[in-house]
Amino acid sequence: MATTRLEEFRSETRAWLDENCPDSIRGPGNVPGGGKKVPITDPDARRWLDLCAEKGYTVPMWTKEHGGAGLSKDEYLILLEEMRRIKARSPVQGMGIGLIGPTLVEFGTDDQKQRHLPRIARGEVRWCQGYSEPNAGSDLASLQTRAVADGDNFIINGQKIWTSGADHSDWMFCLVRTDPDVPKHEGISLLLLDMNQSGVTTRPIRLISGDSPFCETFFDDALARRDDLVGQLNRGWSIGKRLLQHERSGMTILMGGAAKPASDENPFLNLIKIYGADDALIKQAVAHEMRDRAYRLTQRRIVEESEDGQTPGPQTSIMELVTAELEKEDANVKALICGFQGLGWEGNGFTDGEIAACRHYFSIKRRSIARGSNEVQKNIIAKRVLGLPD
Ligand SMILES: Cc1cc2nc3c(=O)[nH]c(=O)nc-3n(C[C@H](O)[C@H](O)[C@H](O)COP(=O)(O)OP(=O)(O)OC[C@H]3O[C@@H](n4cnc5c(N)ncnc54)[C@H](O)[C@@H]3O)c2cc1C
Repeated sequence: MATTRLEEFRSETRAWLDENCPDSIRGPGNVPGGGKKVPITDPDARRWLDLCAEKGYTVPMWTKEHGGAGLSKDEYLILLEEMRRIKARSPVQGMGIGLIGPTLVEFGTDDQKQRHLPRIARGEVRWCQGYSEPNAGSDLASLQTRAVADGDNFIINGQKIWTSGADHSDWMFCLVRTDPDVPKHEGISLLLLDMNQSGVTTRPIRLISGDSPFCETFFDDALARRDDLVGQLNRGWSIGKRLLQHERSGMTILMGGAAKPASDENPFLNLIKIYGADDALIKQAVAHEMRDRAYRLTQRRIVEESEDGQTPGPQTSIMELVTAELEKEDANVKALICGFQGLGWEGNGFTDGEIAACRHYFSIKRRSIARGSNEVQKNIIAKRVLGLPD
């Protein structure tokens, strides 16, 4: 696109954001997950989501037909820059926009795209991921949840575990075994199913942090429509892996806007002002911030270099490995700066912020397990990126 057209797009976008982004959405804060079970109570957040959805800015690069704005990669990067300029938060986030949406764009039927994508774009439906089972985590292809075709439906029986947000979700994308008599990778299918049915039960799991961000999910004759099979029957493994690349790249989350508003201020500065820090700790904080910013620039370069903003392939495991380590390092440096005050679990001796920081420190340990453990990412990098022998 000619530079002048991009310049015009920048000024139009800047004017639109200045007029429409509420003040309370500029800066750190919550980004809604969408869906019917957790209504948005903040009127500004509601208005921001509705305005962005109308404009196609919840999923800027999707086609207008699917609820996007049909932006080119260059226009999308400008939108991101302009959102960051005013520290605008994303209007909505979640596995709909980040994971199953882009997968349906690539592999869905026209009917699936029409039924699911616009509702994801408007933040009307919250999705969860039914992959892991009690005996199938890193070795995901060993999954046993069974789906049997029956007329216009599949009947599903079995159990998933660690299903993030299952109790708050409206729909699930789920890997199921549809042929138990072939090698394990060849009998798996990807289904979409409505969580609001009697055959689906969720049980939250409590974590060391005190939160319950994920659940066990049980299927007892649960139903999925035949036309909610994504791709071909028994060919779900490769599509399911592609979905993980969208998850690991974080790119599609970036596509949803600037979930984490940019800040020119070192995030440790305020903590250092309160708690103090010696030279060694200050050096650690600066080094972390340099790594974090370098990573974000790399992520941006990947978008710039990608064809039409497409998520890359197995290289996404490098991005996942780096982000997991960066997020844990961030919590670690913060805990070190807070010192004794960073150890507060409860009680009057600690502020709410200190207690939250302590719980976050424990909770963030999950990052090198979720989305595939660090060891599994290293295996993928060795085999699929570096081409080392199995
Ligand atoms: C916060 C969080 C959110 C999650 N959300 C979801 C979700 O929404 N949906 C979902 O389906 N799942 C979810 N998961 C599950 C996650 O994908 C699995 O926990 C992960 O894949 C590891 O599987 P596992 O827990 O069964 O551990 P295991 O596979 O049993 O692994 C145990 C240990 O062995 C190591 N290991 C295993 N195999 C190898 C190998 N070949 N080489 C080297 N080391 C190996 C692992 O690295 C790990 O340290 C979530 C997990 C977490 C922590």
